[in-house]
Amino acid sequence: MAKVTEQAVREALATVQDEERGGDVISLGMISGLAIREGNVAFAIEVTPEEGPRKEGLRRACEKAVLGVPGVTSVTAVLTAERPAERPGAASGAGKGPAAARPQAAGKPALEGVKHIIAVASGKGGVGKSTTSVNLAIALAGLGQKVGLLDADIYGPSLPRMMGITGKPTSPDGKTLLPMENYGIKCMSIGFLIEEDTPMIWRGPMVISALEQMLRDVAWAPLDILVVDMPPGTGDAQLTLAQRTPLAGAVIVSTPQDIALLDARKGLAMFRRVDVPVLGIIENMSYFTCPHCGERSDIFGHGGARETAEKLGCDFLGEIPLAMPIRETSDAGHPITVSQPDSPHAGAYRAIAEEITEKLNAGAGAPKGPRIVIE
Ligand code: ADP
Repeated sequence: MAKVTEQAVREALATVQDEERGGDVISLGMISGLAIREGNVAFAIEVTPEEGPRKEGLRRACEKAVLGVPGVTSVTAVLTAERPAERPGAASGAGKGPAAARPQAAGKPALEGVKHIIAVASGKGGVGKSTTSVNLAIALAGLGQKVGLLDADIYGPSLPRMMGITGKPTSPDGKTLLPMENYGIKCMSIGFLIEEDTPMIWRGPMVISALEQMLRDVAWAPLDILVVDMPPGTGDAQLTLAQRTPLAGAVIVSTPQDIALLDARKGLAMFRRVDVPVLGIIENMSYFTCPHCGERSDIFGHGGARETAEKLGCDFLGEIPLAMPIRETSDAGHPITVSQPDSPHAGAYRAIAEEITEKLNAGAGAPKGPRIVIE
């Protein structure tokens, strides 16, 4: 089969005219985030929020044109209403002491009706970031707060499975999506909106636009806390997301090995770069409790996160053991915090949730210190 090249796709798109703007979509610079994986092509068409509703025809025309390119088997084109980009707030974050949360990050439009947004991040995938996000969200709700959970892990959305939610969100007014709900948590995930076999080739600006829509075009309010399960890693997409979301703070999930590999430190550095306070580090899969004899083994070595947190001047929020019931319950859609709320594992999540809540409340309304911006 013919290999699909970027040039061939661009040439096909150059035949599509936007009558309203008077030109083709390539010359007008409307295409972004073009990604090609074998025969699957994805891209975004950048329009203004006002134009959005009128551009469905243009979107279809773009898809049709690209489908005509030899070798192309599927096309995903999305309209994105880009908001003006901000400059990264390069700030004097490094070396700051333990962070107190702030109500909203400076300069970013707040989400109306949402008191605090926190990010749950990790230096790499597979450390249990989603499991932690889900259990933390439920534990935070258990403290009497209204909680939302946004699955921004666009590369491997696991919220639908872990929260036991199926089906698609609806939009009665055609503008705002209603979040899905289970265990008292309002949830949104790209996993609800795409078919499971849709190729995950969204990258760069497309990822950001999709996430911004999930943040701003979903009826979240009223919420006390919105937990954002970030995409794993510390690349451009993560940095931009951290920079554009009005985050009150970030929590970094790490395994003991991951600490040794410095991945968690990269996460810390990323948030500091964009002036988001790090609320602390959670050590996941910290130790193993034998289900038969109850003996605790520190199979990966233990305590690395606490030491690293101390060294880097950020707080240590707690440790979660490597435990079969944590895996089984979250993978089956009944996280341990709802299915076994009296277990010590649920207690560990609850203790972390209490500490996070305290920090958020302590930070709310606190006067901001001076901020040095390096131009
Ligand atoms: P990430 O979001 O970092 O990619 P996940 O939360 O999807 O990671 O977790 C990866 C796998 O590890 C899942 O199968 C999950 O059930 C399991 N897992 C996560 N945390 C624990 C834990 N503390 N004990 C046992 N299994 C865990």
